[in-house]
Amino acid sequence: MRYRDTRNKDTRVTFETAVMQGMDPESGGLYIPETIPKLPPSFLSKTPVPSFRDIALEVSKMFIEEEIPADELMAIIADCYPFTAPITPIDPTTYILELFHGPTCAFKDFGARFMARVMAYFNRNEPDPLHILVATSGDTGSAVGSAFYGVPGIDVTILYPRGKISPLQEKQLSTFDGNVRSLCVSGTFDDCQKLVKTAFTDSSLRKKFRLSSANSINIARLLPQSFYYIYGSLLIHDRCHFDNKIDCPSLIAIVPSGNFGNLTSGLIAREMGAPIQGFIAATNENRTVPDWLNDGQYRARPSVETLSNAMDVGAPSNFERIVAMYDLESAQKLIAGYWLDDIGTIESIRSCHDRTGYVIDPHGAIGWAAWDSARSGAMARLLAGERTPEGKPGLQGSKKTAPQWAKKCIGKSCIGMILETAHPAKFGETVNKAISREPTIPDRLAKVLNLPDRSEPMSADYDDFKDWLEKTL
Ligand SMILES: *Cc1c(COP(=O)(O)O)cnc(C)c1O
Repeated sequence: MRYRDTRNKDTRVTFETAVMQGMDPESGGLYIPETIPKLPPSFLSKTPVPSFRDIALEVSKMFIEEEIPADELMAIIADCYPFTAPITPIDPTTYILELFHGPTCAFKDFGARFMARVMAYFNRNEPDPLHILVATSGDTGSAVGSAFYGVPGIDVTILYPRGKISPLQEKQLSTFDGNVRSLCVSGTFDDCQKLVKTAFTDSSLRKKFRLSSANSINIARLLPQSFYYIYGSLLIHDRCHFDNKIDCPSLIAIVPSGNFGNLTSGLIAREMGAPIQGFIAATNENRTVPDWLNDGQYRARPSVETLSNAMDVGAPSNFERIVAMYDLESAQKLIAGYWLDDIGTIESIRSCHDRTGYVIDPHGAIGWAAWDSARSGAMARLLAGERTPEGKPGLQGSKKTAPQWAKKCIGKSCIGMILETAHPAKFGETVNKAISREPTIPDRLAKVLNLPDRSEPMSADYDDFKDWLEKTL
């Protein structure tokens, strides 16, 4: 398999190059598979459904086997995924795909752990260590730190803005030891990002150290996220008949989205043959993509702070991949856009809890609101010609832009699979506001709370950062 660049049409690179470079250094474009292979029908129709690891192996073989042999791939997968992505039915037409069972309790563990081990594999014959620099505004840093923790030949430096992330998030970042360090920067997230970017372009530093990034645009984070779409959709199809007396449902995946990496992985899974009819892109007030689906205009904008802060992205980087895979019209046939404000998010956490007993986090809650609105008539209203008033939250679109699956969403044969991207305990305060109690904190999060803080203070000045790197690496 070769990987192409979203900007330069002539570029073709190996998986190794795509992973180790992260993005095309000349064009600034992102890598996507040249073609998307199809899983054989005999695999997709197996009963019982293949295990999560079997699916992970089958899929990664199609994308990577020429470069990493199957037995090595299986070792990587086994090491990455001591956890899976269970599905939980919460009402007769809704399943939650729980993606928070990894060590940092967010879905980013699926991608980051795979990327870390693949990078370690490609780095195995290098005499010098590879240094990863990562700036974070929250979840990414802990997922990356935890993913690389203890991985030989690689170390990680995480930069985060002082006082700008939640106390629990800070604990998750600042308590690593060994090959993962963190710097608490007196500045904003943008300052952190600038320090990292300046280091990458500093040739005197690059002569001394092998530096790399680990951000969410890396193809090695995207591919493994397709595993759980395939797994979840096959499992739901398998048990739907027993749970709900529905045969062959139309399955809609509802994806809380920020940078749109997760949704892009879903699109890849569908192209490979996962039985998914369509998608709802659920965002907070950072609604660049729902607006694009609605009127075809892409308007990147500064991000707005919300309660679902892991989705506070005004210029989603994976948009570039989506338009490299689909034109506007095909995207509209497949994806519905939805957005919600903070008041609606709190209400949605409460409504999900009141009606189903399920405690959902603020990101998943937007997914729940989107799905509940779609199945209870908003799709039908769009098809009948009604529009969501300009600037008002809700499903976006019109008769012309409603996806093809909208008609199916009116009957009872449509099932929603909501991707729950984080454990609610990571956002305890917001959840408490909605349902008047804190979610139970899982052991793996509680443990972190008692570890000593090891982060070092850092100014936003590049020379200080460079000095520190030269002394420490
Ligand atoms: C990162 C994140 C998202 C957004 O995922 P994208 O792939 O960037 O769209 C959603 N929810 C949570 C909890 C996250 O950490």
